[in-house]
Amino acid sequence: MRPFAYVKPADAAEAVRAAAEPGARFLGGGTNLVDLMREGIERPDTVVDVTGLPFDTVDELPGGGLRIGALVRNSALAADHRVRTRYPMVSQALLSGASAQLRNMATVGGNLLQRTRCPYFYDHASACNKRSPGAGCDALDGFNRGTAILGVSESCVAAHPSDLCVALAALDAVVEVQGPDGTRRVPMAGFHRLPGDTPDVETALAPGDLVTAVELPAAPVAANSRYRKVRDRASYAFALVSVAAALEVRDGTVTDVRLALGGVAPKPWRATQAERLLVGGPADETAFRRAAEAELAEATTRQGNAFKPRLAVATITATLRDLNGGVTAR
Ligand code: SF4
Repeated sequence: MRPFAYVKPADAAEAVRAAAEPGARFLGGGTNLVDLMREGIERPDTVVDVTGLPFDTVDELPGGGLRIGALVRNSALAADHRVRTRYPMVSQALLSGASAQLRNMATVGGNLLQRTRCPYFYDHASACNKRSPGAGCDALDGFNRGTAILGVSESCVAAHPSDLCVALAALDAVVEVQGPDGTRRVPMAGFHRLPGDTPDVETALAPGDLVTAVELPAAPVAANSRYRKVRDRASYAFALVSVAAALEVRDGTVTDVRLALGGVAPKPWRATQAERLLVGGPADETAFRRAAEAELAEATTRQGNAFKPRLAVATITATLRDLNGGVTAR
């Protein structure tokens, strides 16, 4: 065991100060950080335990949204009646992730910051630009069944592992951050970064930045929403492809739609192109499939994941069809 200092700050300002020091890491539920420390991937000098801070409630926002504290446990958020009725995709995404024991520990803030499960990232004998910038990427021509097909670079093709973040992206969630220079709000669309030449830089956060809450704006369309996850086994597995979708249809025409994808990109992938094609058009399977195909048209596949575009198109189409009451054509 590599020695490290442990501090438990009394308030957020003290936590931010402690975490702004080089080599410091926040500790929430610990379901990812502790694994990474055991594997020697994360080697913090100081662990800043934020579990005593008052960020563990879900509160109503003016206008009908919800403010979710960063320390709300995944299981508590999934069970929240307001989330289950107003944003069912959020509850379903949470329940599709990990195991019940892990969901009882894992926090919303930690979910946003979890690292990729690319196997080469965890293997010190492998080349990995995310772990060791400039080292190369053994996933490019290695075991890449689970890797991303959208937004990738030659530096890194790792997929983002979160289910919750896919639903948050679809819902235009906003992340509240308290940092050394004060508080700010970061839209989900800009919170996670694509790898480019710096896959080790994964978010818009700077040292000391503490995620304090996630705001879910009011979204009536989200009452008719779903999270569908396709994976190699039925539980405790990461997505090959996942879809967070919400759909509103009036007189056979799509009036509102939200669509985001997981398992296919280095960040939660908002399917803006598909959304644009769908709104104002017919709510039928042909239109759903065309929109999905357009979103996947720029996919870059490798030998192990060449099946993903077809799987993504099929999963998007099936999810929208279900949200449309199972209607395939009018
Ligand atoms: Fe590392 Fe990314 Fe390559 Fe995986 S895909 S080995 S995380 S650089």
